[in-house]
Amino acid sequence: MALKLFNTLSRSIQDFVPLDPAGKKAGLYCCGPTVYDFAHIGNWRTFVFADLVRRTLEFKGHIVTHVMNITDVEDKIIKRVRETKTSLREFTGQYETAFFEDLKTLNCLLPHHTPHATEHIPEIISLIEKLVARGIAYRAADGSVYFGIEKYRGCGCTYGQLLKLNFDEMRAGERVKSDEYAKESVADFALWKARVPEDGEVFWPSPFGDGRPGWHIECSAMSMKMLGESFDLHLGGEDLVFPHHEDEIAQSEGATGKPFVKYWLHGAHLLVEGKKMSKSLGNFFTLRDLLAKGFTGREIRCLLLGAHYRETFNFTLEGLQGARTSLARIDECVGKLRELAGGTAAVADADLVNAFTAALDDDLNISAAWGVIFKWVSKMNRNLAGNAIMVAEAASALAAWEKIDSVLGIGLMVETEAPAELKQLIIDRQLARQAKDFKRSDAIRDELKAKGWVIEDTPKGQKLKKL
Ligand code: AMP
Ligand code: ZN
Repeated sequence: MALKLFNTLSRSIQDFVPLDPAGKKAGLYCCGPTVYDFAHIGNWRTFVFADLVRRTLEFKGHIVTHVMNITDVEDKIIKRVRETKTSLREFTGQYETAFFEDLKTLNCLLPHHTPHATEHIPEIISLIEKLVARGIAYRAADGSVYFGIEKYRGCGCTYGQLLKLNFDEMRAGERVKSDEYAKESVADFALWKARVPEDGEVFWPSPFGDGRPGWHIECSAMSMKMLGESFDLHLGGEDLVFPHHEDEIAQSEGATGKPFVKYWLHGAHLLVEGKKMSKSLGNFFTLRDLLAKGFTGREIRCLLLGAHYRETFNFTLEGLQGARTSLARIDECVGKLRELAGGTAAVADADLVNAFTAALDDDLNISAAWGVIFKWVSKMNRNLAGNAIMVAEAASALAAWEKIDSVLGIGLMVETEAPAELKQLIIDRQLARQAKDFKRSDAIRDELKAKGWVIEDTPKGQKLKKL
């Protein structure tokens, strides 16, 4: 059965048919992080969604080229470089390193290409030159180069492919220089921003004068360089639909005259406790904040994969506890099947794989996919409890689970070594008990539990076990 996906371009669910005449290869671009801070769990929802799309395409037999750019120069970054009095490279480097560490923690597959904007200035300049040569871009009095929307429309091109725009409200020639603006302020947008004193040392020479690229042109230049002038899939969070993606289409199609992207996929936002995540509301979590609370990458990944990508998803710490419980159920069942199968090779249980595939084919219906998995876990647990399962059946179930997990990427729990500060708590607890300070001893147990660990008595003494 064909994979069906909701395409923002057509506002409908369509069969995924790649541009490759052989139907095999698929080019996938996801707008990557702006490295000016640690990525928050909302960002991670989008990157885990992109990972799910890639893994699903590979599961369906496609050969995917996955590209994710690193936005290492734009308005917010320059502001922070100025404030922190660091160099651009020094400033962005630390957050980029953290980003790749987090990507690994969440078991996201590394994209095949992770191009940096600052390493593609020549490609960006040549794309702008093409637009200037076609009369679609122009240099304004301040030395910046703008994309002329009316000129583009005059060439028979459509501005407003991803969303409807009201051009009657637009005043011709009005310009917007900042990278982010709302659809009410649709206007000619900056492709190249002339150097201003606030930019400090962040500038490059160009035929249009010293300056730096706008954010939108960076993605057009890098995606087309890596995947060609037309490619299959472009992803991002829903906030990128306008202006970022609309501008990417305009810049790319304006320069090449060819359709830019066949399928546009947008992930809905993550809310925290029902509200928009914001530092001032105190509901702002980076991945690292959650790890410090004792949760693991696979628990967080499991939670982020919990809801359909087009549904706004409400993050709560209770939800994360729920993901922990769900994983424990899967781990227990898969662990028992492993013991029983004992390494026997088998063909994957087709019923299970087919039911899971049917759920994914339906526009990545992850809730239905989890439904299939937990029904299977219940059935396996029943059969395991009643000794009603043979070695061959256990092996076949396991083979199916491995196929499924190639998409989910949650793996099996591995014994984790407790962090040193938690091990110290065990010693403190023993001392408290020796001193008959049971209040303190209970408090330590509760503290460990809150961090996701339980104390187990073993023949070798007390040990910490992950909950
Ligand atoms: P940025 O680093 O700000 O460029 O964002 C990286 C990605 O995270 C983009 O695809 C955004 O659309 C996405 N994003 C930002 N906030 C959220 C959120 N609260 N929920 C889901 N995705 C988000
Ligand atoms: Zn982008």
